[in-house]
Amino acid sequence: MNNRFQTNFEYACNDRKEVLVIKQKDIDRLRVEPGKKIHLKDFNTEWDKLDKYEEAGETALKAQLNLLLAKNLTDLTKAQQLLYVDDRYSVLIVFQAMDAAGKDSTIKHVMSGVNPQGCQVYSFKKPSLEDAGHNFLWRYAKCLPERGRIGIFNRSYYEDVLVVKVHPELLQNLPEGKVNKAFWQGRYDDINAFEQHLHRNGTIILKFFLNLSKHEQKKRFLERIDKPEKNWKLTEADLAERDYWQDYMVAYEEAINATSTEWAPWYIVPADNKRVTRALVAETITSTLKSLELNYPKVSKEQADFLINAREKLVLDS
Ligand code: AMP
Ligand code: MG
Repeated sequence: MNNRFQTNFEYACNDRKEVLVIKQKDIDRLRVEPGKKIHLKDFNTEWDKLDKYEEAGETALKAQLNLLLAKNLTDLTKAQQLLYVDDRYSVLIVFQAMDAAGKDSTIKHVMSGVNPQGCQVYSFKKPSLEDAGHNFLWRYAKCLPERGRIGIFNRSYYEDVLVVKVHPELLQNLPEGKVNKAFWQGRYDDINAFEQHLHRNGTIILKFFLNLSKHEQKKRFLERIDKPEKNWKLTEADLAERDYWQDYMVAYEEAINATSTEWAPWYIVPADNKRVTRALVAETITSTLKSLELNYPKVSKEQADFLINAREKLVLDS
């Protein structure tokens, strides 16, 4: 531990007598209340709570955020095991964001502690011809998590009211007259009904919009050019879509306002600091799973008798 780190860290932990913690109210503030109209410009892309700890120094804050994430990963591992054993709920976690907002790295870090057998990640790219031949929810419905599992959608059916709304030429072939004034509201209604159907069947749905600033995206794109090991990450499409930033913000705002429901709420997570994003996402998932009060199943009388007999037999076994 170098001196600067030690001093900063102790300052954060002791002198301020307040270790950086994420409280339920911090999570609640990210959630978009159903029926309430939000404006994205009112949501900070940085985490305001960090301001309070700024004097502690960057190194101390990084250490604190890593600690927070680590604690949540331990809890998440336990919660996932219970989810699996309990076998009543499934969990669907949706990630949406502009390019370079940190979807991939958040998924990688937050899910690093969970048993791969209980978790599946699907990344959705441009629809295939077969996908485009079906209704817009078809390809996503095939990837939903089974009971007891966590399913992660890296992009999702929301692309069909985001990128497709910004570029309507991407719309599937639809009969004349279908793309009328009510078309997008119809898609929001379809999504709400789809998610309510899943909820009624035991799926817990969490949706994260990683809220990145245009300025931070520029910084991350430049890094992808300047760091050779990141060169592969920047595509022409990324740069082209940046030109539509404002259109995307409008599409996101409309989609979030129309589809944040009791059964499938949106969380708007500050994304300009990757450690903050990971810590907040991990905390939201963990606290949601904990609130389900999952339990190991009660051992029946028959199973208890069987276990006693099995033990006796095994102990005497050569
Ligand atoms: P990436 O996640 O950066 O690899 O990029 C995937 C690309 O696929 C993004 O440009 C998305 O906008 C695009 N994409 C994902 N889903 C759809 C969809 N349903 N319709 C059109 N484009 C999509
Ligand atoms: Mg991309």
